[in-house]
Amino acid sequence: MRCPFCDFADSKVLDSRPVEEGRSIRRRRECLNCNKRFTTYEKLEETPLIVIKRDDRREIFDANKLLRGLVKSCDKRPVSINVLEEIVVDIEKELRNSYEKEVPSILIGEMVMQRLRLVDEVAYVRFASVYRRFDDIYNFVEELGKMLKDVKDDDLTKKTISQWVHIKNNNN
Ligand SMILES: [Zn+2]
Repeated sequence: MRCPFCDFADSKVLDSRPVEEGRSIRRRRECLNCNKRFTTYEKLEETPLIVIKRDDRREIFDANKLLRGLVKSCDKRPVSINVLEEIVVDIEKELRNSYEKEVPSILIGEMVMQRLRLVDEVAYVRFASVYRRFDDIYNFVEELGKMLKDVKDDDLTKKTISQWVHIKNNNN
């Protein structure tokens, strides 16, 4: 279970408890590298939810990966990890209620953007600009990291928004 802050692979479990009528286990963890705390939800014997990408490839939906993407989008923004965890739980619940087994990745991206927009405009623009360009809820994470690196805080919003405008213009 990778740390959503530093990507380190090992963490210790502080607390475990069943949620959603015992269908999943909520674990409070602490990263062994950066010591930050985060929550994971581990599903018990549940049919995997399959994500269909635009090129028709399939992959298993991974709530923790999605959370890492959201954490990156909110880098240096006043958004608590609890809010992001709630977004992920909410999306997964909605997906499982509305879809049999497979769900298009585009739809997940749109669901994230709808929610993120209400939480933080800058995080929303970051997520949207990278996501729309790469059309992939997971693989954009690396790109987002590159985008945020070596950019001064003050310039960050301006730079992100100018990229966003650029992408929109190219699409029109
Ligand atoms: Zn860490």
